[in-house]
Amino acid sequence: MIISMKRGATQEQIDRVKELIEGFGYRVHESKGEERMVFGAVGDERGKERLTCLEAQPGVEKVIPILSPYKLASRETNPRSTVIDMGLGVSVGSTRLLVIAGPCAVESQEQIMTVASALKDSGAHMLRGGAFKPRTSPYAFQGLKDDGLVLLSQAREEYGIPVITEVMDIASIEIILEYADCLQVGARNIQNFQLLKQVGKTNKPVLLKRGMSTTIEEFLMSAEYVLSEGNSNVILCERGIRTFETATRNTLDISAVPVLKEKTHLPVIVDPSHGTGHARYVEPMAYAAIAAGADGLMIEVHPRPEEALSDGPQSLRPHEFRKVMEGIKRIAAAVDRTL
Ligand code: PEP
Ligand code: MN
Repeated sequence: MIISMKRGATQEQIDRVKELIEGFGYRVHESKGEERMVFGAVGDERGKERLTCLEAQPGVEKVIPILSPYKLASRETNPRSTVIDMGLGVSVGSTRLLVIAGPCAVESQEQIMTVASALKDSGAHMLRGGAFKPRTSPYAFQGLKDDGLVLLSQAREEYGIPVITEVMDIASIEIILEYADCLQVGARNIQNFQLLKQVGKTNKPVLLKRGMSTTIEEFLMSAEYVLSEGNSNVILCERGIRTFETATRNTLDISAVPVLKEKTHLPVIVDPSHGTGHARYVEPMAYAAIAAGADGLMIEVHPRPEEALSDGPQSLRPHEFRKVMEGIKRIAAAVDRTL
């Protein structure tokens, strides 16, 4: 921690601050500039709340942390990029990209099998499909629940492709663990700390989707909740944030990719479907994400988007998805990644 004194702080104020820092158990490193005194408090930053309170002390201008508050997620403490095993030979975080695709919601056996077959043919690595859906309206389709999980796992068996599905509450973790290879925590639950702690107690990979108004630091603190419970398999997903813009469903924050990659060793993927809300913008944003350094993508695909029970307008048809996969392959090669 750096404690910067105000210009014109009295000697008495400076001495008192030094005494307090030492009293908290830190060694003090003094740096006397032309205009002001700056202290470095050297010691374990975990007890830094007490130092932060020094901002209330007369003569103190600012208390600045040096280390990030997300110890386990941080690249400072863990410089090597984490590679996560997603099951059935699929992984994320290496030079090989991960493409997760599938419908917003599992709707029927015919729907999920058709999609799974098409995705497998196009080279996607993982199948997505919501069984428990977080809908804005309580009257909208809420998902097939347990039946949806069964259908998803049937597709998993049939096509040998790992599956991911959303876990909305603590009560459904157990059943989802039985069927899915990866647990998705949705944007609306990204600060549901009890849920994060509970998925942190499992040993399945957890994909965290950025909340609509979650800052990067808050997002990383949510990852920290999962990591601190012992589950080190966390993947971050940028899916757009709320801004004043209404031309797209959300504003896909592509800059979050290099920022996150700099701050954390965890894999970062991008969801251009929720990020834009329109099928025709998915392709360019998928390419932008890979060019920006993302470790993978999550893309919604539906055999008949016009009949989809949720998120039809942003869902690609299987043949459109196939074309996007071709493009991703070319962009990947340009940035030294493979598909
Ligand atoms: C989804 O993946 O279908 C979903 C609901 O996403 P998000 O939580 O990002 O809105
Ligand atoms: Mn969706």
